[in-house]
Amino acid sequence: MDTRRADPTQGPALLLKTQVIPDMNLSSIKEQLLRQRADIERHLHETEGAKELEVVGRLSRANAFQARELAFQNEKRWSRELTRIDSALARIERGTYGYCALCDEEIAPGRLEANPAIPLCIKCAQTQSTPM
Ligand SMILES: [Zn+2]
Repeated sequence: MDTRRADPTQGPALLLKTQVIPDMNLSSIKEQLLRQRADIERHLHETEGAKELEVVGRLSRANAFQARELAFQNEKRWSRELTRIDSALARIERGTYGYCALCDEEIAPGRLEANPAIPLCIKCAQTQSTPM
């Protein structure tokens, strides 16, 4: 009896979903995300100022209204981006960074390079109605 025969219950180690994609430089990605985060927080701070803009000097009422509208829109956009960055950072902490938040497939490295906060693979991004 060959006792060295492979035990069928001990198959090859399954690739863990939590495994980080090998050639990804997580610390530099994290740095990049934190830098983006700081930028956005600065923008948000500036936006706060714009919203409280008083109708002063040459600025007409309409202009002030427009500036405030724009500030609100920017604030919404930045808040959304901030959420994405935070969840990307959380995924780095959990070791699931680089995998699609919907289907668990690997996100193409080029996509992550273009925007490290991106949460979805190209396929899922295309099926989403809102631009990610
Ligand atoms: Zn996907």
